[in-house]
Amino acid sequence: MELPTDSHEIVSDDDEIDYSVKPEFYDPILDEKDELWVRNKTKGCSSDAMLSCPACFTTLCLDCQRHEKYVTQYRAMFVVNCKIKNDQILRQSERKPRKGTSSTGSERDVIFRPVCCSVCSTEVGVFDEDEVYHFFNVLPSES
Ligand SMILES: [Zn+2]
Repeated sequence: MELPTDSHEIVSDDDEIDYSVKPEFYDPILDEKDELWVRNKTKGCSSDAMLSCPACFTTLCLDCQRHEKYVTQYRAMFVVNCKIKNDQILRQSERKPRKGTSSTGSERDVIFRPVCCSVCSTEVGVFDEDEVYHFFNVLPSES
């Protein structure tokens, strides 16, 4: 028999922490990443790129961060030369996948407003309820 017969040998050994056990938070959900990003943003983080209008090259944003998954999308909280179309609303239902739940109650509608370049009115992105700009039609220049 290889197993130790004395079980106290295992449980009483509390002086040594088992470093081989990794925390199980290695697979964060994207939504939580978003929240983290917003929190980081308010603390002030370095920018990923500078964004310009693709039509007239006006600078739209000096401080943004690239989306983790969609590399052509950028998020920003502080912009310049942008115009929000308050008379237009874009609705998108967002699903929040959670492990072990099959209910649809976690679904919610996210409301966006189109964002245009204030110089030439080209649509460059959207503005969400959390006051975050999402740019997807812009010219990035890596800083
Ligand atoms: Zn423009």
